[in-house]
Amino acid sequence: MSCWSSSSSESEDEGRDAYRKGGYHAVRPGDRFGAGRYVAQRKLGWGHFSTVWLAYDLRSNRYVALKIQKSAAEFAESARHEIKILSAIAEGDPSSSRSVVRLLDSFIHSGPNDRHICLVVEHLGDSLLRLIKFNRYTGLRLPAVKHICKSILSGLDYLHRQIGIIHADLKPENVLLVAAINPAKDPARSGAPPLLERPEGGAVFSTAVQRRLRRKAKRAVAKIAQRRASFIALPAERERSLDDVDLDCKIVDFGNACWAGRPLSDHIQTRQYRAPEVIIGSGYSFSADLWSFGCIAFELATGEMLFSPKDGQGFTEDEDHLAQMMELLGKIPKKVALGGARSKDYFDRHGDLKRIRRLKQWSLEELLVEKYSFEEQAAGEFSNFLRAVLEYEPEERPSAGRCLQHAWLGGDGTAADRGEDGQL
Ligand code: ATP
Ligand code: MG
Repeated sequence: MSCWSSSSSESEDEGRDAYRKGGYHAVRPGDRFGAGRYVAQRKLGWGHFSTVWLAYDLRSNRYVALKIQKSAAEFAESARHEIKILSAIAEGDPSSSRSVVRLLDSFIHSGPNDRHICLVVEHLGDSLLRLIKFNRYTGLRLPAVKHICKSILSGLDYLHRQIGIIHADLKPENVLLVAAINPAKDPARSGAPPLLERPEGGAVFSTAVQRRLRRKAKRAVAKIAQRRASFIALPAERERSLDDVDLDCKIVDFGNACWAGRPLSDHIQTRQYRAPEVIIGSGYSFSADLWSFGCIAFELATGEMLFSPKDGQGFTEDEDHLAQMMELLGKIPKKVALGGARSKDYFDRHGDLKRIRRLKQWSLEELLVEKYSFEEQAAGEFSNFLRAVLEYEPEERPSAGRCLQHAWLGGDGTAADRGEDGQL
């Protein structure tokens, strides 16, 4: 979860400082969790609340992701909340067909830094942030962007319409591909045997498991060698091929999620993906996730964040953020600008920013053509799609279900799906 923070991607690892009482639990490969059922393999990622480990489940003989929460009371509270939300998500989708991560188990693990709530969820692949990096921040091709957008929207449609949950921290780190970008790194597909003991104790595998896994490994090696070659052999500056990458993805990290109408906090979403109503303080609902989704779609297609505000002399990060929105999407309607608890901090009575007076107007379409070399037609179609979700008035944003019908995603855009402006 974000906790009103900027993106965790800014730092490479979680740092050592937080491995103390109330903080992270230190894990070594081979450590056992859940009464010996799960064996830690390697770290998959981290957030401000947890470290996430690849673990081998000895009962189901498959790999899972083990999220080990920091132990202080506020983190434990947040983990209990995430378990409640993930349980509702899993109950509503017994066949696990929706693009949302699946909770498999939860328990408490006691260690030197106290008691840590652990969540076991299905093991997924790389995050969209890693995919963007893998693609060298050049922007994915539009068919790939569309595929990922459909996946995210189908997850959001399920969360919003069937479960009634707002994710509240949608960002590229919190959307994971279902499989690793590099198939050789996918433990299930690589066929390499899981580690069952701490290495210094001499890795011991049960003979039956070992034999079975060796056979599996042999079969997998031939397949993977061929694919791996295509990753390694690429010349440094050429566009990377995503032909072999499975672009289906799932939404993760429900630590900040809430049921609509029961907000946990006014302070939601990671900075760059934060909706204007959250900044202005006028309340939010499902549509706040659609704003973040629009920011992600832009980032996938260009390799760069849509908004990256900074504070400066005489203005705050919030004011710069609102200014960047207005430069690209036009003036915020007075009703929206002046309708929030923090409106007076930013706007004068005409709805103009008090401390940033000169704005450089640019349309989204111009930006796509001039900065990112989109062809005009592609820029027009994509900005038409983006403009709908980046609508200032939250009620005017289309639902995830309606977005899926948009012509840009190959929907028929039939009359029934069109709004007043004829865009949807
Ligand atoms: P944040 O500070 O980002 O809000 P958090 O502590 O709540 O984070 P998550 O976002 O749930 O933790 O997970 C942190 C990272 O761990 C993810 O960005 C991802 O890299 C990795 N991760 C999480 N879940 C999985 C999974 N199911 N499979 C593989 N990797 C995962
Ligand atoms: Mg996260």
